Amino acid sequence: MLLAFLFGVALVVTSACAQLPSRDESVPPMLATKRHPVQSEARKILMKEYSLLHYGLDQWTLQNPQMIVIHYTGTDSDEYSLSVFAPETLAASRTEISSGGAVNVGVHYVITRDGAIWSLLPETDMGRHIIGYNHTAIGIEMTGSSGDVLTDEQLASCAALVANIASRISSIRYLVGHHEYVQKGRSHLYLYKELVDDYTPTVKHDPGACFMYLLRETLDREYSVLLED
Ligand SMILES: [Zn+2]
Repeated sequence: MLLAFLFGVALVVTSACAQLPSRDESVPPMLATKRHPVQSEARKILMKEYSLLHYGLDQWTLQNPQMIVIHYTGTDSDEYSLSVFAPETLAASRTEISSGGAVNVGVHYVITRDGAIWSLLPETDMGRHIIGYNHTAIGIEMTGSSGDVLTDEQLASCAALVANIASRISSIRYLVGHHEYVQKGRSHLYLYKELVDDYTPTVKHDPGACFMYLLRETLDREYSVLLED
C-alpha cells in the first residue's frame, strides 16, 4: 500500500516536471544596464598605442576575451567611481602606472552601491584595468572603498553579470579577483603578457578573498557557473 502510494506520488511529480517548458539553449541577451559610455576616437588611438607597446597587438579591440576581472574602485562615491573612467587620458595622480602609457584606466562595467549595472566600454573594446591581461580581460568595477563595504546588491548583480557574460562569450574561461592576478598557483597565469621589462605588477587588494569566495559560491549555487581561477 505504501509502495503504491509512493509510486503514485512519483508519477504525479514526473508528469508535472514533464510539463515544464524546456530550457532555452539560445544565447541570452545582455543584462539590462544603465549606460555611461566612455569610448571615443581619441581613446581608441591611445588604447591602441598601449596595446602595441605592452602586448605587441596593433589594435584597440578586445578579441576572444578569456577572463573576467573583478575590482573595487577605492571610494564609496558612485558619482566619483563613474567619473574617474570618463577622461581619455590618465590622471596625473596615477604616478604608479603613468610610465605605462597615456590612456586612462577603463573598464566594461561599474556596479554602483544599489546594485545597478552601468555599461562603460563595449565588451568588444579593450580597457586598461589590469597589468598583463588587458588584451584578454573584461573588467568589472564595484563602487567601494574596501571589500568589507561591498553591498549584497552588488554581490547579486556581479554574479548575475558574470554568469550572463560567460553564457554569451564562449571564450571566457577564468574569473579572477584583481588581488589574485599574479598569485602563484592560479591557472590563468599563463595568459600574462608584458613586453615592457620595467612595467611590473603592483600589489592589489581589490576585491579581496572574502568577496571572491562569496561571488564564486553564488555563481555555483544560483547559476551553476564554475569558472577557473
Ligand atoms: Zn583593481
